[in-house]
Amino acid sequence: MLKMSKKVIVIGAGVAGMSAAYYSRQKGYEVTVFEQGNCSGGVATSWVRRGYTFDGGIHWLVGTSPRFQPFHKRWVETGALQVNNPVVYADPVFEFRSGDTTLHLWRDIDRLAQELADFAPEDRKAVLALRRHVRIIGTYMPAPQGFGDRLKQIYRLPVFVPLISRLIWTSTEKYIGRFKNPHIREMLSSILSLEQNALSLIGTLVGYTMGDNGYPTGGSRRLADNMEQTVLKAGCRIVYRTKVEKVCIENGRVKGVMVNGKLHPADYVIVAMDTCTALRTLFDKPLQERWARKLAKGMDSEHCSLLSLGVKKDLSYLPSTLRIHLKEPIVLAGRSYTTLWVYRYNGKEGYAPDGCSSLTVLFQGDTYDYWKAAKDDGTYTTRKQEFTQEVLRLLESYLPEITENVAVTDLATPITYERYCGCYRGGYMGMWYPKQQPYHAPVKSSTVRGLRFAGMRTFMSGGMPVSVQSGYKAAKSL
Ligand SMILES: Cc1cc2nc3c(=O)[nH]c(=O)nc-3n(C[C@H](O)[C@H](O)[C@H](O)COP(=O)(O)OP(=O)(O)OC[C@H]3O[C@@H](n4cnc5c(N)ncnc54)[C@H](O)[C@@H]3O)c2cc1C
Repeated sequence: MLKMSKKVIVIGAGVAGMSAAYYSRQKGYEVTVFEQGNCSGGVATSWVRRGYTFDGGIHWLVGTSPRFQPFHKRWVETGALQVNNPVVYADPVFEFRSGDTTLHLWRDIDRLAQELADFAPEDRKAVLALRRHVRIIGTYMPAPQGFGDRLKQIYRLPVFVPLISRLIWTSTEKYIGRFKNPHIREMLSSILSLEQNALSLIGTLVGYTMGDNGYPTGGSRRLADNMEQTVLKAGCRIVYRTKVEKVCIENGRVKGVMVNGKLHPADYVIVAMDTCTALRTLFDKPLQERWARKLAKGMDSEHCSLLSLGVKKDLSYLPSTLRIHLKEPIVLAGRSYTTLWVYRYNGKEGYAPDGCSSLTVLFQGDTYDYWKAAKDDGTYTTRKQEFTQEVLRLLESYLPEITENVAVTDLATPITYERYCGCYRGGYMGMWYPKQQPYHAPVKSSTVRGLRFAGMRTFMSGGMPVSVQSGYKAAKSL
């Protein structure tokens, strides 16, 4: 029987919020989602500028393959993956260019290892170790398919246990440091942030080699729209342009949320906006829980500045993902970069007008203080223009056909993510540092009855799979 009298309010219609809403409704609750923005998806979104679509969310998604459970199940159940967004598995994942050198991140670990070992025989030992690590971790990462897989897991346990703890304790930078060849080091460095632990690197390679980590056609926008439709069809209500001001608590129990000074009563509140921001802004009294005190002080995250370019030229001859190693490092927004990460979206339906191309150039790293200072002293727009011009000048030396034909530019900074999604210091997901616990926030408050948390901060590494799974867990705990 449906428990229609029990009300759940979800704060935020990002991936975590929609997942929390869907699964709460499945349990029979009456669900309302309040979203401050005018659409679903949160950070996982795309936007259109003069006919060009720019995807600011998914580049690759853990759980596109049925082998990667429980994430795949969540994507299917919440309607994120459907027939309208078939998954594309680009191979190579990216092409790395450095002067005359070209290397590829192949999905198949054997092929990748072969290319790297042929290119740099001096690194043969390190390459073979990398392949071995991917194979060992890969025995455990996707769900076992049957008795054979389980047997393999038992057999490999004595090597798995010491390896996984070593990888958790080592940074990606240190792991890559064992390679002697500078091109290989640079190429491996451009898979993900160097600060993450080495397990994140190996885990990513396992995903590729196991046939996961694809890109759903239509990107973040279609995925978010699919989830929104599923949530609405299930009977939830989503109220857009509505910012929650407070979580109201009385006698150790949630009473509801405050919106425009008015109380919206609820039996449960699931906070699915950035947990760091929520802890700093939504509570009259700080939550007296150890993890909450820690998280309220902030948390290191993945950050980026994302430059989107609409180009009046068909660039389909370029690889869909390109890493260009720079002859000289460049300083942008106070940070030094050695590699340009270029994503090309034309060839994907609806991203650019006919004969044109939609590109993004991603600059990872925390530049929040730089952009915040610019915002405060009134130079934000000028500095954004300078940043854009600097990147275009740089691209001129590597891909002149782009700069000659640029029709649209659009730069998102950490300030953009802070403004539109309420992300703490504009961070878009947590990072799993070496020696760090993977769990940061429980889904259930231990001091306030009826209070739950979901989203990218709950466990590491962050990203959309963490958000969808934490939404599920928060709903399950009701
Ligand atoms: C450039 C870029 C590339 C990325 N690439 C990948 C990738 O390849 N793979 C991957 O898995 N992940 C990727 N991510 C990360 C991923 O998109 C995010 O970690 C994830 O979408 C976060 O989802 P969330 O629901 O936890 O939080 P959010 O998306 O931040 O959702 C929170 C929602 O709450 C709303 N909100 C905030 N405050 C309030 C309030 N007071 N009242 C009402 N609503 C509120 C916000 O507007 C937002 O909609 C990328 C992110 C970026 C920026």
